[in-house]
Amino acid sequence: MHKCVEQLGCSGGNIIPYSRDKELGFDLCNDCGIIWRSIDSIHISKIYEQVYFDSKKYNNKRKHKVKKSGWMIDQARIHNSGISDILEVGCSLGYTLEAAKNRRINHLGIDISDYAIDFCNDIGLNAKKYSFDELKQTRQKYDLIFMQHVLEHFEDPFLVLKDCFDLLQEKGIVLILVPNTKYKRAVKLNAKHRFYSLKGVGAEHYSYFNYENLRLVLQASGFEVIQENYPIFTKDFHSIEFFANRLFRRLLSVFNYDQEILIIARKIQY
Ligand SMILES: [Zn+2]
Repeated sequence: MHKCVEQLGCSGGNIIPYSRDKELGFDLCNDCGIIWRSIDSIHISKIYEQVYFDSKKYNNKRKHKVKKSGWMIDQARIHNSGISDILEVGCSLGYTLEAAKNRRINHLGIDISDYAIDFCNDIGLNAKKYSFDELKQTRQKYDLIFMQHVLEHFEDPFLVLKDCFDLLQEKGIVLILVPNTKYKRAVKLNAKHRFYSLKGVGAEHYSYFNYENLRLVLQASGFEVIQENYPIFTKDFHSIEFFANRLFRRLLSVFNYDQEILIIARKIQY
């Protein structure tokens, strides 16, 4: 049974096949709108090693990627200017870690790929191949947990968010970027779109969200959403380039042309 039945109270009777590319399938829960990897194809997975990073030309435009990750950190700092410890789950080749380092913020990245960890360490970034359980044993807590296209890679997003909750300081925040199920091209092309295809990223992903249901998932995991999408106006203007980027992103979302969604949420105290 899909996780939303247990966690969000979805009926379970309202889940229908959504896409099928050979052995890879996705189901749509019509109650919450989350698109889940079908149970019969849950075993299909990807191995994240050098070929993976090479195949995606991950390190191209590094400067640009570090700059954009820095803008994300700056958005989180709008909500908490005192951020001093960042954890990035799925740090990949360390763009966010580098941006954090440039801002003199303590950083730690975790990833399941040895290649990614070695790459980060070689360029002087702090990255470890820790599991959530190993991280918890360090007793270190974080002000910000950053997950850029990561949540969809886990079979149970609720469990991941529970771990994030445990690893955050009081009122700590999570910044999440995930693919958008409402993205027009993906809706139109269905199994032919890379979201749901074997050739694309379908075999890497277990769940797909939109703003409404990611909000529900976060609420069920002990968080309150404090920002959805890119803010056009911010307290601190930052730069023209960042402003233009935010404006562009917002415009895309008006027409469902945005491939990804951005949510920032704060841990609620019980
Ligand atoms: Zn559901």
